[in-house]
Amino acid sequence: MGSSSGAVRRLATRLSEEDRAEARGLDPFERVTCRVHRRWLHQCVSSPVHVVAVTGYRWCRDCECPVDVAVDELNRTVRLHCPGCGRAPDSPATRQIVRTCRASLAAARGQRDGTTSTGQDEWCTSA
Ligand SMILES: [Zn+2]
Ligand SMILES: [Zn+2]
Repeated sequence: MGSSSGAVRRLATRLSEEDRAEARGLDPFERVTCRVHRRWLHQCVSSPVHVVAVTGYRWCRDCECPVDVAVDELNRTVRLHCPGCGRAPDSPATRQIVRTCRASLAAARGQRDGTTSTGQDEWCTSA
């Protein structure tokens, strides 16, 4: 159980870090851990709790229904799929989910995630 206790500690550390960061103004949707489930984001993002229709988070506006998320931990892929239209909504929220779930997958393995240093945030232009 040695390696798994390390993983548990890693999660606990990140949770408390992000709880504090959120209190200072971190966007809750930028977290890689979940305040509600106390787990890594990729482990519980498929829960109905994570659907936020107002912001379009895991929500297809065309079909007005929740979007499914499939996380493949081995291949580190994150796919969104609307059961209504069969597509992933082309929205900032979709890109954010993919990005934060990938960061969550990396963090769970003890790798420092690349959320701050990659060029993937070009769509995130909050003027
Ligand atoms: Zn959760
Ligand atoms: Zn749809």
